[in-house]
Amino acid sequence: MDLGATLCTRHRPGCTHCPLRQDCRAYLQGRPADFPAARPRKALPVRQARLLLISNHDGAILLERRPPAGIWGGLWSLPECPGAEDVAAWCARRYGCHALRITPGKALRHTFSHFHLDITPLHVRADHKTNTIMEPSEIVWYNTSAPDERGMAAPVRQLLAEWRAVVDIN
Ligand code: SF4
Repeated sequence: MDLGATLCTRHRPGCTHCPLRQDCRAYLQGRPADFPAARPRKALPVRQARLLLISNHDGAILLERRPPAGIWGGLWSLPECPGAEDVAAWCARRYGCHALRITPGKALRHTFSHFHLDITPLHVRADHKTNTIMEPSEIVWYNTSAPDERGMAAPVRQLLAEWRAVVDIN
């Protein structure tokens, strides 16, 4: 008989029927429900990401479809600028945007099952919307005042909503 799977379960130990109770320290101490102690949670590793909220003169935000593999695969997202890149140069090279102003937004942590993602949003005011190297089907200038149902990860939606709230106030 597997006592651990049947009688001595974590949440409802059946001590009154247990043949081991005279030798059971948990029972003798009056703490049968305290054992086994919960395993300490493993600390999750932390990754960093810079997500760009590139806005044009119409107040639209540039979204890009993520590659099929990796986090948020195939979803629409804010562009993720690699940490080693100069933001203005990267925007110019990738999207044909001239960054007029770059300001940091409020940091956000999103937790996946295997890691935390610490997101630094950067607001980039851009002066035009020429697309240089992206496929047109993989990029869109998104009207945040008329959101649609396209697939986006929750933190991206949150960052867009926060950006919209700031725009509406000003
Ligand atoms: S007496 Fe001890 S071993 Fe038996 S059910 Fe209770 S806690 Fe589990």
